[in-house]
Amino acid sequence: MRPYDFTVTRGVAEALDRGGAPGAAYLAGGTTLVDLMKLEVLTPSRVVDINRLPLTGVWTDRHGLHIAALERMSDVAAHPLVGARYPVLAEALLASASPQLRNMASIGGNLLQRSRCGYFRDTATPCNKRAPGSGCPAIAGANRSHAILGTSDSCVSTHPSDLAVALVALDASVRLTGRGGSRDVRLDGFYRLPGTTPHLENDLRPGELVTEVTVPRLGWADRSAYVKVRDRTSYEFALVSVAAAVLVRDGVVRDVRLAAGGVGTRPWRLTAVEDALRGRPLRLEVVEKAAAATEGARPLAHNAFKVPLLKRTITRALMKLADRP
Ligand SMILES: Cc1cc2nc3c(=O)[nH]c(=O)nc-3n(C[C@H](O)[C@H](O)[C@H](O)COP(=O)(O)OP(=O)(O)OC[C@H]3O[C@@H](n4cnc5c(N)ncnc54)[C@H](O)[C@@H]3O)c2cc1C
Ligand code: SF4
Repeated sequence: MRPYDFTVTRGVAEALDRGGAPGAAYLAGGTTLVDLMKLEVLTPSRVVDINRLPLTGVWTDRHGLHIAALERMSDVAAHPLVGARYPVLAEALLASASPQLRNMASIGGNLLQRSRCGYFRDTATPCNKRAPGSGCPAIAGANRSHAILGTSDSCVSTHPSDLAVALVALDASVRLTGRGGSRDVRLDGFYRLPGTTPHLENDLRPGELVTEVTVPRLGWADRSAYVKVRDRTSYEFALVSVAAAVLVRDGVVRDVRLAAGGVGTRPWRLTAVEDALRGRPLRLEVVEKAAAATEGARPLAHNAFKVPLLKRTITRALMKLADRP
């Protein structure tokens, strides 16, 4: 690990001043940042510890559910408001990482975690995301876990956060706070497609802090679920995952929200599948047919299995909800 300056901040304004300096990085739980510093993938000259900032709390108001950025993943998963009204969020969090990691890791840090692509994490190999213009060995290399949607000729890495998938399904937004004030950005638009600039992953400006996540009031997100398919039952990232919420009235789908993880270069909203389900009964044959509306996938040499797996995972998530009142 390279030497760096370390500062602990107690106020948001002070954090923004220090975090806005060139070469600075914020430290929350450190479960991604420190990992990547040890690998020398990230080499900040100054680390700004934000753990003492007043960015904690989970609450609801007329706008919906609010989660402050420094809440720990395990605390949010266990929060009664989340479990009762937004089970998809609790399930996505509990399917992430391990209990020890969830106790350390924060909500803001989870949404800003970096790629798990092996080439990105290995400084001995080229990688357009780590070193722009150096190339993407994953396209012709070990790409079993890589993306099939939203890829470009520059990068095929998946977005790793499970929570982000559930939040995108629920139309959540993030509050970004900088020296000029705060702005709310829908998470769906916050993450960028790789295009020719995969090193630019989101719309966070230099020095900005993620301060809060807001999930808009829906009223029916209690009928929601997160299904994650992975190589091991725990402590593993998604091969394919699906977040689903559904409103059924008189035996017919009145509204539905779906997003997928493990398949896209960003959390992938499944609007075509949603459209194919609205106004139809939530029955297996209908759901299987609707799940086929995932066109646009561009499989690589080793991950074509993700195309049928995505359809089956969509079906599994929705049929899980068909059994719930
Ligand atoms: C072995 C392992 C398995 C894992 N499995 C999963 C999994 O299955 N699913 C999953 O979703 N995740 C998984 N993770 C990732 C884990 O969830 C993240 O490491 C964690 O959520 C990051 O949170 P943190 O608070 O530790 O972030 P940090 O490491 O402190 O920060 C991460 C990044 O975000 C920035 N940052 C942090 N907070 C803020 C803020 N408020 N404003 C602006 N910038 C900020 C930091 O500067 C840094 O760049 C796994 C991690 C490991 C090590
Ligand atoms: S897929 Fe993206 S992160 Fe992985 S090597 Fe290619 S450019 Fe780097």
